Amino acid sequence: MTKLSELAVFRGRPAFADPLHVGRPNIGDRADLFARIEGILDRRWLTNDGCQVRELEARLAEFLGVRHCIAVCNGTVALQVMAKACGLVGEVIVPSFTFVATAHSLEWQGVTPVFCDIDPLTHNIDPSKVEALITDKTSGILGVHVWGRGCDVEALESIAERHGLTLAFDAAHALACSHGGRMIGNFGAAECFSFHGTKFFNTFEGGAITTNDDEVAARCRLARNFGFDSPDHVVSVGINGKMNEVCAAMGLTNLEALSDFIDVNERNHRAYAVGLDGIAGVRLAEYPESERSNYQYVVIEIDETAGLTRDEIQAVLLAENVLARRYFYPGCHAMEPYRSRPMRGPLTETERLSTRVLSLPTGTSVGPEDISVICDIVRAAMSDPPAVRSRMSVPS
Ligand SMILES: *Cc1c(COP(=O)(O)O)cnc(C)c1O
Repeated sequence: MTKLSELAVFRGRPAFADPLHVGRPNIGDRADLFARIEGILDRRWLTNDGCQVRELEARLAEFLGVRHCIAVCNGTVALQVMAKACGLVGEVIVPSFTFVATAHSLEWQGVTPVFCDIDPLTHNIDPSKVEALITDKTSGILGVHVWGRGCDVEALESIAERHGLTLAFDAAHALACSHGGRMIGNFGAAECFSFHGTKFFNTFEGGAITTNDDEVAARCRLARNFGFDSPDHVVSVGINGKMNEVCAAMGLTNLEALSDFIDVNERNHRAYAVGLDGIAGVRLAEYPESERSNYQYVVIEIDETAGLTRDEIQAVLLAENVLARRYFYPGCHAMEPYRSRPMRGPLTETERLSTRVLSLPTGTSVGPEDISVICDIVRAAMSDPPAVRSRMSVPS
């Protein structure tokens, strides 16, 4: 058990020699990846709907039980292509408690994101706050399955139906997660995934759109490749959203290791639950027992009954070489260009949560011993907040 005097803020020496940080990538079998890359070079087919991309799309569609999977170069482009393919225009209602790309992907296409508050228990968009934000310019609702925990899809569906709006989802966190027993990727008009290096499943950089709607899928495929439907024949405006073969090879490699990644993440999440148990004012966000989860985010909420604030705990951990992250501080609405605009409604829960949340290191680069040390550091620091605070206010 770490003693207060052993903390780096007192002793100067961090618990970890190498930084331990949120978002270190999960990497599958190297030999498999290298063999796939040899094949790509042998075929001299580097991009443009190559066999690795097609195999990845087929495997992901099968895994998710969805009709269409369109692989793209990143999650942000996935959102942009999806928004266009689904006909999102004017205003779209989104949570502010999300990565800024959710809002930017709309804004980039001239669609105004209108920010909605969240449910403090689930951290997801609060359906009861949506209707007040609907105007005659609203074309849709873009939900985000934050931490991979499904939104209240049913409530959002009924609002969308009642008002004739399109419902779509940012599922960037949610590969391999289910909602109501059905894999995320099947809901709304379409859903988007990110395969960025920091995400649960990565293709270095990448993303995908999934949908059960044949027309949406066809529009996404056209848009991804400049609007070409055949050589020399362009039928609509498009962008270069293609995933290359090496990225797809990484995806196929990581897909083989997916259940190992989940096992490690679940083990780590349990270890944090044990290690943080009983620390006053610190609560670990749980994953629903009845659903499939990827356990990729270890998120703690630090409330006002805790002796130290979230930012103080983050600073204590940083001194120990543990880089925890303040997802999604301060919220999209507090970032430009959105912050310069009049607020459309109160974001009370968003503002409260974004000062409380800290994401802790996990994934295949983090082991149970690391987690036990991290939890001990938090516990020791919280045992005497005034002492810790006095050390931190003295510049070293
Ligand atoms: C990561 C992320 C994105 C963007 O994905 P990229 O692949 O980095 O472009 C969008 N939305 C959310 C919620 C994300 O976490």
